[in-house]
Amino acid sequence: MHKNGTRKGLTLVFFQHYPSVANLAAAYLAFGLYTQKVPFRIKVFRLYTYKNSGLLKKLYRFFTKTEKVVAIGCFSHMLPYVIAALKQLKKHYPEKLVILGGIGPTEVAEDIIREFPFIDFVIKGCGIEPLPRLAGALLRGGRDFSDISGLVYRNGRHIMSNPVTPASKEAFLNAIAFFHLVPGALRATQYDILTARGCIYKCTFCQIPVLGGGRIEYKDICKVAGELKLLLRARKNKRFHFSVIDEAFVVNRKRVQAFCMLLRRNRLVMPWSCYGRIDRMDEKLMRTLSDNGCERIFYGFESGSDRILKKVNKGFCVADAIRAILLSKKYFKKVIASFVCMYPFETKKDFLKTLACMAFLESKGIEVALHPLAPIKDSLLFRRYGKHLSLTSGIESTFHSRINRMPQECTQLIRRYPHIFYLYYFYKVKDVTNLTRLLAFGMKMNHGRRYVVKYGL
Ligand code: SF4
Repeated sequence: MHKNGTRKGLTLVFFQHYPSVANLAAAYLAFGLYTQKVPFRIKVFRLYTYKNSGLLKKLYRFFTKTEKVVAIGCFSHMLPYVIAALKQLKKHYPEKLVILGGIGPTEVAEDIIREFPFIDFVIKGCGIEPLPRLAGALLRGGRDFSDISGLVYRNGRHIMSNPVTPASKEAFLNAIAFFHLVPGALRATQYDILTARGCIYKCTFCQIPVLGGGRIEYKDICKVAGELKLLLRARKNKRFHFSVIDEAFVVNRKRVQAFCMLLRRNRLVMPWSCYGRIDRMDEKLMRTLSDNGCERIFYGFESGSDRILKKVNKGFCVADAIRAILLSKKYFKKVIASFVCMYPFETKKDFLKTLACMAFLESKGIEVALHPLAPIKDSLLFRRYGKHLSLTSGIESTFHSRINRMPQECTQLIRRYPHIFYLYYFYKVKDVTNLTRLLAFGMKMNHGRRYVVKYGL
């Protein structure tokens, strides 16, 4: 034990957005640490209980109750809060060693290490293998981190950025989500599972085509079935809902059929959901999915304007999308169509077409959701328009609070480091006044505003 009370060990911190959904990343990392025999405990910060006020203070207090090595997994929209809280933490507990990981820090890992001396390490990409190696080395007092995949850290005045090696891919393919090691996870009613990673499509607003190289890495579906069985056993056979969160689940229909067959053979037919792809769906596939428990399907429709669909390289047109979505309603209890707006080249006419499309689908019992486009680093769109971002509290975002409602410490960070907190910015659109007005109208159609995840309001 350190002289001021910090215990020597590893605390893994995760955020839980909804009470019903267990954290998949925590379950994967628990698997990695457990199999590598690294002592750890997981602390889950339940974001949904902190919606009203004082999030930053509570987060700081939460961080103080961690052990000497603290590893935090976080999304981009939590990054300003996490960084502001860590700054205070390191001031009062300088002996703590801080590791960041997850989607948010991965994209800006080098910048974080360059700008924030109170953060010691960032792990880029999949942490299942690198985290146990780093934590093990730190707990033993080791100082050589040069062969840890995807690790970014300081070495004197230099910033070291280790390449992400293929071993991380192996780790993902072999990992099993150990939900039973994540506090509270067995009380959840919904579990995300991944059967594959990557996508073959090339939507210009998405980073996957650029980072994933247009490939899909498939997990062995027998392993996925094993994962579901393990979870069912841990829950004492209490059934649950699972969501297949692969970006391109329906791309390989033979595999989808084999997966459904495995569910049946292993008595794992439970309610589940997945992402669909307009141009891959037909009646036969819909029937197979629905006959084997899939009751909710989610489509990225993106825009009601063919001009926009073409520009973002979506690969289908509005008429095809409407046809596939209406047919889906015959087979699935819930069909969700997600739209995006505020593309840098969007006009009022395009946006009105999206609203008309949403209203039409809603009248047919389809759940619709509208999101203003978030700039995604490494996407083709960001490469072209990333220099034209603006910070505004006028646009309602789906994923984060308006900046004028955030604590000052966070807004200062967002203003000072736009290259790190770019997710809080929006692409500049020509007809911004009209589009912002339409956005407010469109977001009212977001069913029950269930897709809105905001903190610190
Ligand atoms: S938006 Fe979806 S379909 Fe398009 S490239 Fe990204 S993951 Fe693939």
